[in-house]
Amino acid sequence: MNRLRDSGFNPAHDEKLPEAQRRLLEDRLRQFSQAVELSPVSVIITDNEGCVEYVNPHFLEIAGYRMDEVIGRNPRFLKSDETSQATYETIWRTLAAGGVWTGELASRKKNGDLFWEQCFFSPIKATDGAITHFLAVKEDITHRKEQEQRLLHQAHYDALTGLPNRLLALDRLSQALVMANCYPRRFVALLYVGLDRFKNVNDTLGHEFGDKLLIESARRLKLSVRKEATVARLGDDEFLVILPDLKRPDQSEAIAEKALHCFAQPFHVDNTELFVSAGIGITVSPEDGEDASVLLRNASAAMYQAKLQGPNASHYFTREMNEHAMERMKIENHLRHALERNELFLHYQSLVDADNSNLIGAEALLRWDDAQFGMITPDRFIPIAEETGLIIDIGEWVLNTACRQIKKWRSQGHPNLQISVNVSSRQLHTGQFVSTVSEALKRNDLTADALELELTENILMDDNPDTGSLLNDLAKIGVSLSIDDFGTGYSSLSYLRRFSFKTLKIDRIFINEIGTNPQDASLTRAIIAMAQALNLTVIAEGVENEKQIQLLRSEHCDLLQGFYYHKPCSAGEFTDYLAQQPASLHRRPHGNRAARS
Ligand code: C2E
Ligand code: MG
Ligand code: MG
Repeated sequence: MNRLRDSGFNPAHDEKLPEAQRRLLEDRLRQFSQAVELSPVSVIITDNEGCVEYVNPHFLEIAGYRMDEVIGRNPRFLKSDETSQATYETIWRTLAAGGVWTGELASRKKNGDLFWEQCFFSPIKATDGAITHFLAVKEDITHRKEQEQRLLHQAHYDALTGLPNRLLALDRLSQALVMANCYPRRFVALLYVGLDRFKNVNDTLGHEFGDKLLIESARRLKLSVRKEATVARLGDDEFLVILPDLKRPDQSEAIAEKALHCFAQPFHVDNTELFVSAGIGITVSPEDGEDASVLLRNASAAMYQAKLQGPNASHYFTREMNEHAMERMKIENHLRHALERNELFLHYQSLVDADNSNLIGAEALLRWDDAQFGMITPDRFIPIAEETGLIIDIGEWVLNTACRQIKKWRSQGHPNLQISVNVSSRQLHTGQFVSTVSEALKRNDLTADALELELTENILMDDNPDTGSLLNDLAKIGVSLSIDDFGTGYSSLSYLRRFSFKTLKIDRIFINEIGTNPQDASLTRAIIAMAQALNLTVIAEGVENEKQIQLLRSEHCDLLQGFYYHKPCSAGEFTDYLAQQPASLHRRPHGNRAARS
């Protein structure tokens, strides 16, 4: 306990002091000495040359030294490479000038382990101000540092794959851009990698399987590029490869090829063999942008373009994509307010009986008259509404408006008239769609036979396990289901049999040329024959001339829709048109005409 006093650091040894005062000093010193010896922080005292004169037991315990191994030595034996030389120099300069230094240092234990200390260094001065010793009081903060580093890691790395996450990737990209700026003809390329149909894997094989596939994809991607490249995970099934230092922009394409090649071999997960494909968008700085977020946006646009080309394709970003993206963004922003600004309305197009041209119903088609852009066609805004989810509210509005309208027409003397409403996949899977439909019918006092819902083939292709039961629930409440644009998608017979469809609408691209193109004519014949076998009502859409009508009649197509009969028009115009129609004739044939005859 008296090592501190014995170390020569003991003013109470002064013989000239009166006895009482010396006792008092000795008592005080013993207290201080014990406080230091028992202290839970490390204390080191060196002479003014920096040689250790005293260390307390806590220090020995933390650093793993014996007393005799440290006394007389310069404390530089604690130095680690984690602390810069400049920091050590600053400390000694500050102390030599009589100042105090506080801060965090990484030091090495005797066994080589690293530990972190919160330090307070101060000179000890004699009464004349001369520095006689240096004092170090240090607290071990290794645990806190490790926690901090763990949090930092969590904030910057993806927990599943261990790859840098979006935040760190953008930081690295920004650093690479700054570096490239310092040298002439240095290029930074960004590859945006998106796996194909990954959602299907998750939905059908489960999330655990999907996770393993992502981990393996990340591993392969990392192996496919050089060490200088950063491979990061942006989220879901999207990865980023940052190439920080290219000599030529076109090198990026070869690297993208290599990255795509890593998906060539099948994946083996849980005894299942699976082929995974991807699309890669490439963007190069400075040509395509000098800012990390701009490059990221451009690379993402290029990735979508690559995916349109088919599996395992890469695509460079082009300026046109940017213009396209800008336009899309503007439409999206305006679309967000279209409903509340009453800019949406419905047009109606007639459906007629192929045999006698009697009107049996109408399809409701959405229209948007934007205050700034004017009329925007559904082909342009519906895909955006679907992607953003805006279609859910918009679709509900369409359904309610169409039901209100058919109620009016039915009460005006056309009690059998039907309305067809287009429904997107996003609407179907809101969890409330079936009740939205029955409420719309109830609110307008309509029987379910007033309504037909048109769904496109992709609804059935998205492999969502709930789709079947949703369609059955809709069929149960009595609304009829129609498959729209048949022939443009998967065109599979099996789902038509599996789900409760009543009607099949042949897409207008086939009808367009049936009069002139024998191939389209035979395809149309085949579709009608197939629908007959399944006892489905067949509608041909896009009918524009007599020749088409003759052919469709001879093949026993049930209903026709097209400009020949009627272009889509406003509710008012359709009401006028209805007034000229004999009400009793609006009766729709059930099932297929040929099958019935
Ligand atoms: P669709 O459901 O296949 O609708 C038929 C489209 O063909 C309509 O285009 C209609 O105007 C057009 N059409 C009809 N007859 C002819 C013809 O003789 N010749 C030609 N060239 N075209 C004809 P529109 O109104 O532009 O709608 C395009 C697509 O937008 C629709 O295709 C449908 O997929 C979608 N859509 C329209 N309204 C809605 C809606 O309320 N909800 C959803 N989810 N989609 C909608
Ligand atoms: Mg339709
Ligand atoms: Mg259609």
